[in-house]
Amino acid sequence: MTSYSDCQSCGMPLKNDPQCGGRNVDGTLSRTYCSCCFTAGRFTQPEMTVDQMKAFCAAKLHRMGIPTLLARLMVKHLHTLERWRPVGATTYGAEPAGPSPSPVPPTKKNRNITRPRKAPLRRSVVLV
Ligand SMILES: [Zn+2]
Repeated sequence: MTSYSDCQSCGMPLKNDPQCGGRNVDGTLSRTYCSCCFTAGRFTQPEMTVDQMKAFCAAKLHRMGIPTLLARLMVKHLHTLERWRPVGATTYGAEPAGPSPSPVPPTKKNRNITRPRKAPLRRSVVLV
């Protein structure tokens, strides 16, 4: 099973989760979702849509003192997370409708900010 560094529902870094992640139905730690989104093998808010999640997270970030505009940017990618991907999809598909700024081509100057974030591969041995 793939393990992620960020919750694949709300995008919160799992290392920031006081419980280190949600719980699977058998009580084991979920490496995919945080404890706010996922408990006992199910989503805490199964009816929530990705747009509602974006609004919820942006509001939460704002309450934490992050400016609204920055908070919106931080939740912009949520639709690419595992929970929100169409079943069976292997790619993210087309960009969502509406005006969006064109991506900045990578140059030496902005290479660091445009580099796609890649989750580190962790292959740890678990001793049982
Ligand atoms: Zn979450």
